[in-house]
Amino acid sequence: ERGLAVRDLVVRYEGAGKTATTAVAGVDLDVAVGEILALLGPSGSGKSSLLRAVAGLEPVAAGSVSWDGRDVTNVPVHRRGFGLMFQEGQLFPHRSVAGNIAYGLAMSGVPRAVRARRVAELLELVGLEGYGPRAVSTLSGGQAQRVALARSLAPEPKLLLLDEPLSALDRGLRDRLTAELHDILRRTGTTALYVTHDHDEAFTVADRVAVMIDGHLAQVDEPARLWRVP
Ligand code: ADP
Ligand code: ADP
Repeated sequence: ERGLAVRDLVVRYEGAGKTATTAVAGVDLDVAVGEILALLGPSGSGKSSLLRAVAGLEPVAAGSVSWDGRDVTNVPVHRRGFGLMFQEGQLFPHRSVAGNIAYGLAMSGVPRAVRARRVAELLELVGLEGYGPRAVSTLSGGQAQRVALARSLAPEPKLLLLDEPLSALDRGLRDRLTAELHDILRRTGTTALYVTHDHDEAFTVADRVAVMIDGHLAQVDEPARLWRVP
């Protein structure tokens, strides 16, 4: 059993007093190695809670998260070997572009020459050759997200978790970057779980789409086979 297996997962937020929200209400989900799965649904449907629970950022009330058959439900975030990419504001503002991309590699003791090679390779992958020495503050929103993608791919994560990575960008740029992101994930063979509220984005980026409504998965299928809203 390879890849990600989520079983009967429940995420609950205890409110003040007796109000509690069940954000994820018993979800089963599999992502095969090399697959890109989009989690699509309206705001508040529980997508982010599910992704955060898979990452280990949110405690689980019930159920399990496994990778390659190993239960990682109680494994801390940094030991899961998963990568994360968020909407915005994730780069270190006082480091260069290269410094941002290389940060995790430096932390895990990858030698300087190897880091430099890897950084150059990743900059090329995201279409930012030569941007290594630049200050992060000089980047456009789209460029900053390319750098964030390069950084999250740097350690070659087993699974990349993306939470609305392009939602802060304007429509035209978002469309172009969605196609590019798909291409980059494919070329690197990255297994990905991609949260979005945008149909077009989900259909462009993913091999399969899981539609989430009120904490449940309403359907999981290839884009061409999903029910269409008339
Ligand atoms: P989505 O990502 O689909 O927008 P979320 O997972 O963010 O959905 O939210 C699902 C539900 O959980 C919503 O009702 C939301 O208000 C609630 N929720 C999310 N985060 C918290 C939190 N930290 N504390 C309390 N309730 C939360
Ligand atoms: P910072 O000082 O911003 O933390 P550094 O400039 O020290 O970052 O670079 C961090 C890493 O990136 C190092 O491993 C270095 O080898 C690599 N690096 C630095 N500049 C470049 C560049 N222009 N192209 C590719 N790699 C670079």
